[in-house]
Amino acid sequence: MTRWLTARLVEARDETPTARTLRFEVPGWPGHLPGQHVDVRLTAEDGYTARRSYSLASAAGVELTVQRVAGGEVSPYLTRDLRPGDLVELRGPVGGWFVWRAADPAPVLLVAGGAGIVPLMSMIRARRAAGVSTPFRLVYSLRSPAELYYAAELLDPPAGLEVSLVHTRRTPPGHARPAGRLTAADLGPYGEADCFVCGPSGYVEAAADLLLGLGHDPARIRTERFGPTG
Ligand SMILES: Cc1cc2nc3c(=O)[nH]c(=O)nc-3n(C[C@H](O)[C@H](O)[C@H](O)COP(=O)(O)OP(=O)(O)OC[C@H]3O[C@@H](n4cnc5c(N)ncnc54)[C@H](O)[C@@H]3O)c2cc1C
Repeated sequence: MTRWLTARLVEARDETPTARTLRFEVPGWPGHLPGQHVDVRLTAEDGYTARRSYSLASAAGVELTVQRVAGGEVSPYLTRDLRPGDLVELRGPVGGWFVWRAADPAPVLLVAGGAGIVPLMSMIRARRAAGVSTPFRLVYSLRSPAELYYAAELLDPPAGLEVSLVHTRRTPPGHARPAGRLTAADLGPYGEADCFVCGPSGYVEAAADLLLGLGHDPARIRTERFGPTG
């Protein structure tokens, strides 16, 4: 396992009322592939430590987006208390399977549930940074318009990136799709693609089943579950 590195928060910005993007300066950071995550470790004055996994949102450098989980031990601290200049420890990058490489020419289907958009955004940003025209389609489930992360980038996507928002509880005015859970129609019609699915465990299972039902090759469906860690 790689060693723990000291990370200094340099910028924090709100994505939504309950999610914050954190940019860290990390001397010795080796770089990462889109889709990978880091382990963040917090140490209290009495020596007690807590460790959680967070996906990298950026194409380069260390940027995380943390969703505040009510009653959580780590996410309320990261989204409310951490200030620019504060230090945390992190280790990574972690993960070698849930990654996209810009040299892969295959079309890509990204399926995000809530905070599961984070590693998929890293892929979208890496695609743009690499200047490739690989067809990308993002299907992003969120409860309501207020929960949209990365709004500036996703509401005005670059050429070759198609974005479909699936609002599960409340839609924005004029949105054609009524509120409701993800269905096969949201993911279809079937087209050959490398699929990346990320979100809460139940969402990931449901979405992977829908993809299989549409005829996607199980070997080309990669999943990442944001279940509780530690
Ligand atoms: C590989 C990986 C990547 C991840 N990437 C991200 C990311 O990019 N952004 C992000 O915000 N989170 C991400 N997570 C989730 C993150 O690691 C934590 O689980 C989350 O921040 C909650 O930690 P906590 O200490 O605040 O809550 P805890 O104190 O661990 O849990 C408090 C309560 O909330 C429940 N809970 C824990 N996690 C969740 C959750 N994700 N959703 C709903 N309920 C939960 C617990 O069961 C418990 O009841 C990722 C998880 C994994 C495994």
